This record gives sequence, structure tokens and C-alpha cells, in this order.
Amino acid sequence: MNPNPSGEVFAEVRTFKSLCANRSFQTGDILCSFRARATKASPSQMTVQLNADTHILLYPKILQYINHSCNPNVFFDTRRKVLRCLRPIAPGDELRFFYPSTEWDMEEPFQCNCREASCLGRIQGAAHLPPHTLQHYELSDFIRGQLEARGLAHP
Ligand SMILES: [Zn+2]
Repeated sequence: MNPNPSGEVFAEVRTFKSLCANRSFQTGDILCSFRARATKASPSQMTVQLNADTHILLYPKILQYINHSCNPNVFFDTRRKVLRCLRPIAPGDELRFFYPSTEWDMEEPFQCNCREASCLGRIQGAAHLPPHTLQHYELSDFIRGQLEARGLAHP
């Protein structure tokens, strides 16, 4: 007997990948360096933005599984091409970065569920956040430049 005679798709299996630390890191530590394994002209869920029309797929590839948090513990320093620790990380902690720290206008906005007190809800890129919110975060050169170009100087 068909357990769901209507044929309705009533549930789906989801796999949610994340990247977790194998050891501890202190604030300011460099976790690794990175580079582009490919360059795209438009953003996707897997890319990091370098400038207006440069979006890279990351090498090492595992870095693409770093998810978003509104209270991030790592930062993609796109000038030095290193992944930097923003606050102490313990073994097993999930590595998370603040997507709007590199992404200006995201291709696939989403509703954040990071459960941080500072959670911003809908995440769509820095272009959609007020400057007084962004000033609490470390931002890429590109994002800072975008804000400066609009007279929204970032300290
Ligand atoms: Zn959040």
C-alpha cells in the first residue's frame, strides 16, 4: 500500500554542510590562506565577492562550506587572501562568517536562523543593511569602498 496515496511530496531529506574547527584558534590567528579556483562574473551561494564583477570559487574547496552567522568567528580578508579568526574558536566550533562582510547584493537572500542575540533576520548583502549595523563588523575593502562611494563612510 502506498503510504501517501495522493503522491504528495510530504517531506524531503536535507543535507546541510558546515565546516568545523579541528583545533583552537585565538583572535587574529590566520586559519589558512585561500585563492580562487575559478572566477565568476556574478555571485552564487558558493562564491566570495572580490569586487563589482569578480566572484571567486574558493580554494581550498572546503572553505565554501563556511556558513553565515550574524556573530561571525572568522573573516575572509580578501586583500591578504587569508581566513582570519575574529574571536576565540574551540575544537569542534563551526566556522562562520558574516556574508555581508564580502557580499554586496546576494543572488540568493535567505532568512537567518543563527540564534544570536544580534541576528539580523533576512540576509541579502551589505547593500541592504544600514551603515550603523555594518559598523559593528569587519568588512572587505570592496564593501568599504561601496559604502564610501555612497557617502556612508565606515570608521
Ligand atoms: Zn543571524
